[in-house]
Amino acid sequence: MTSRTSRRVGPAALERRRAKITAEIAALGLPLPGSLVERRTRCGNTGCRCHADPPQLHGPYWTWTRKVDNKTVTRTLDTAQADALQPLLDNSRRLRELTTELETLALQQVKDDPTQPDP
Ligand SMILES: [Zn+2]
Repeated sequence: MTSRTSRRVGPAALERRRAKITAEIAALGLPLPGSLVERRTRCGNTGCRCHADPPQLHGPYWTWTRKVDNKTVTRTLDTAQADALQPLLDNSRRLRELTTELETLALQQVKDDPTQPDP
């Protein structure tokens, strides 16, 4: 018995995991590309509250950045806009995680197939 067969998960277990992942993908809301960044800043006025101890920084200022045709596109958002987009951006992150899990299962299937090369 080779190490390859001893690590075998079994096609039924693989299929159960695949079905679970694809069910979660099917239930996922729309995935918005990009990421949300929160910034709090200090201004140039030394008398301002942002220079106090403890400092009360300005903001939060939100930016949503994403790649469009290999260029970074940035949009400034208010807090309400950022709150509305956050769940859609979370969907996108979760979708990437689930896709990676599916790829891991596919690699396992290839690994378990003696007619395929060890990946
Ligand atoms: Zn300030």
